[in-house]
Amino acid sequence: MLSKKTKVKYTEKKKKSKYPKVSFYIFDKWCKRCGICVELCTHKVFIADDEGYPRAVKPIECNRCGFCVTRCPDFALRIIEGRGEEQNTKS
Ligand code: SF4
Ligand code: SF4
Repeated sequence: MLSKKTKVKYTEKKKKSKYPKVSFYIFDKWCKRCGICVELCTHKVFIADDEGYPRAVKPIECNRCGFCVTRCPDFALRIIEGRGEEQNTKS
């Protein structure tokens, strides 16, 4: 959970960002909660929630390097350009 101050900071940063907006689709049903994506991302886009599932808390930091997607052993992660939101799905 981000603090109010951090949310304001990222809202401002989002407006100035040179990177395109991206969305993350995390298929919880496929995810085995290994934490590879969380540890691998050098921009600290993800954190693990209480159950161990990755959550994209700083999508604005993503530079679309694709490491998290290509290294996910269960193909549970997708990046979609153009929305700047995170979406987890149980299906
Ligand atoms: S694409 Fe790269 S920068 Fe973006 S979340 Fe994945 S590992 Fe991090
Ligand atoms: S790398 Fe894939 S399986 Fe592992 S926590 Fe991330 S989304 Fe889940």
